[in-house]
Parts: sequence; structure tokens; C-alpha cells
Amino acid sequence: MFNLALLAKQGWRLLQNPDTLLHRVLKAKYFPDCSFLDAQIPSHSSFTWRSLAQARHIIRLGTRWRIGNGSQVNIWKDNWISSSSPLKIIFSAPNSSRKCKEAEQIKSIPLHPSRHDSMVWSGTPNGQFSTRSAYQLQAAEKSSLSASTSDQSRNHSFWKSLWGVAVPNKIKVFMWRACKSSLPTKANLFSRGVLSSCTCPVCHDENETIFHTLWDCQYARTVWQNSLLHKLHYSIQVSNWNDVVEEVLRTQRQQDIETFFTLAWMIWGNRNNAWLQKPSADAEILGEKAATYVEEYNEVTKKVEDSRSVLCRKWSPPTGSMLKMNVATTYFNTRKSVGLGVVIRNSRGEQMASYCEEFPSAKDSLHSAANAMIKALQFGVDAGFYCLMVEFSHSQLKALIQSTEECLSEIGDQIAHIRNFREH
Ligand SMILES: [Zn+2]
Repeated sequence: MFNLALLAKQGWRLLQNPDTLLHRVLKAKYFPDCSFLDAQIPSHSSFTWRSLAQARHIIRLGTRWRIGNGSQVNIWKDNWISSSSPLKIIFSAPNSSRKCKEAEQIKSIPLHPSRHDSMVWSGTPNGQFSTRSAYQLQAAEKSSLSASTSDQSRNHSFWKSLWGVAVPNKIKVFMWRACKSSLPTKANLFSRGVLSSCTCPVCHDENETIFHTLWDCQYARTVWQNSLLHKLHYSIQVSNWNDVVEEVLRTQRQQDIETFFTLAWMIWGNRNNAWLQKPSADAEILGEKAATYVEEYNEVTKKVEDSRSVLCRKWSPPTGSMLKMNVATTYFNTRKSVGLGVVIRNSRGEQMASYCEEFPSAKDSLHSAANAMIKALQFGVDAGFYCLMVEFSHSQLKALIQSTEECLSEIGDQIAHIRNFREH
């Protein structure tokens, strides 16, 4: 890095002293029709030229035009705004705060119609090149680059937990791309030279980065603040999308993580609609839509898993005159209720009785399952079946019922109630 800063010094001298012999020789050979900064590096170049050309990146980074009569400056491409960072015009929306600031900065630049434009070094207050400031400029660039790559290369557990979230694959892929900075935001397309502007297509005010679109845009803010995750939006104080995701994965409950993923995906969908000039979804109800989506998805996949486990563990009939009662439960989180299904069959697999009911859920799945079991057993007794085998899948409840020890926790009364049925 230090070598490069020294080479930049040579390059800077070349740029400032076009009358030197070295400049004239190099110009004749390598850039007869353009400036040192725009010259090509042909494959047969000398070592000196290659080395100097290598350092141009630093010079470009730190050089700006001092405006004289303005005739040499390309106002759209060159660095020429002295007090801003970067030193050039950023394409932003009319009336945005960035644009107003730029206008102020431009208005403060004095014009000198009798003087040529000249190149000055922006790294020092006096506009003179210094090796030290070139070195600092490089170091700053390197650390900002490595910061963004380390963002992208999060540790293994981050990606593992991201892929482990129970949402449809398309949403996981979306989130993965968002965290890899590979979504086609305007800032991304702008940096690849595909677009000439990077203004957010939704608010037309800020540059459209992933963090802006999904978290910081006025539309996204309204969405988050009207969702179940509103506290999260207030509490997370970071300025990088991956940090937001990491914080969510680390601190939130499973269902909130699923809603977070889904809602971010919906915000992106809305952004794509805005891009296609389609009407945008109501920001105030998007949170509710995401919660319903997650719940429906969970219900469907849970059913699929349940039916899979039933298929794996093939139902086996009871022997002789015994009857078997199968008890199944399902949970509806938004309705805060439990669905209970009961089937009683004989040894030939014929259905003798069945029953279903939806009732309010208890404080956790164990309490709800115990309540469901009591209802199921009561149904069996009421229907006149006394000699029943009972089959169900809640392993924790099963262990508590089968244990010979007394249950001392809050669920003890229900367990005792269930055990009592055996006495009948
Ligand atoms: Zn925006």
C-alpha cells in the first residue's frame, strides 16, 4: 500500500507537470490523444508505465477539479464539488435532501472566468498531494471494502439459521439474496453501470439500497410500524440489512422470524410493483397479510407432516374385542384455539365413533394437549366405550401420564384427571 502511495506521488507529478521530459515521452508513447488518467495500458507496456498506471486509481480517488472558467470539466462525471462526499454529482430525485445540499454546495463555488480549471488534491487542506494522505485514502477505501465483504461473508451459523426458517423456499431464496446484496436494487444496478440513477422508485427521495428498501424507506417504515413487529423496528439500531437479519434471528421467536421474512419479501414485492408502475399495497395492512400467510403456510405444512408421520407409522388395529381411540390436535395461533379430532375403531378398522371440537388454547401446547386428552376420554366414556386403547403423539404428555411419580407442576391436576380415566 505504501509503495502505491509513492507511485501515486509520481503520477501526480506527471499530471501536474506536462512539460517534463518524462511526461512528454510517456504521452507520445501511451496517450497521445488523451490524458494520463484516461490512458490505456497495452500489453507491451514498460514496467515504469505499468507501475505508474497502477497508481492512477489512488489519484482518481483523491483528485478533484478546482473550477476556473469551467470549460474542462464534465459536470456529470468528474469530481468537482469540493465539500461533498463523494466529490461528484449523485443522481437523486428533485427536492430530495441530497439534491438541495448539492445545490447549496455548487452555489458556494466561486467562478473565475479568466482562469483555467485545475486539478487539486482533495486529501489535504491546501490541495497539495501528500504521500501520507494518499496512504490514508487507500486505507479508508480498503477498510470500507473489507467491511462490506465481511458483511457478506457472515459466519456459517448465520446462513444455517437463515436457511432453517420455516417459510416457503422462494422467501428463503429472497432473504438469502438480500443478505448477499444480489437483489437488483437501483443502487446495485447503478454501481454496475446499468442505470444512470439510483433513486428509490417508491419514495423517490433516497438512494435505493437493500437496507433502504426493506427497512428505512418511508413505505417500509409504515409497514413495520403497523405490524406485529413494530417494537422490533423501533428497537433495532443498525444501518445495514444483514445486521437487522442477524439481530432478528438471534432475538426473536420462531413465528416472529417467519413473519419478519415474509413481510420483508412482501415489501420487496411492493417495490417491484412500484418499479412496474403498478399500484402499491396498503402499507398498514401488509403486516396482517404476512401474519396470515405464515399461519396458513404452517397449517398446510404441519398437515403434510402429520399425514406423513401417519403414513410412516401405519395405523395398526387393536386385537380381539379391544377398541382403539386415536386423538389428534392442531393449533390455530391467531384464533388462539385448539382443534381436537377423535376416532374410535375396532379390530377390523371399522369406525365406531368420532368426534371433533375447537376450544380455546391453554398457556402452552402441553396444557392444551392435556385438555384435549381429557375431552377425548370424556367423549369415549360418554359414548359408552370403557375398554379403549388410546393413541396420540404428544410425547411429553405421554411421559407424564405413564410416569409412576406424582406430577407436582401446574399440570398435575389434569394429569391426575387423565389417569383417573384408567380406573373406570
Ligand atoms: Zn424509498
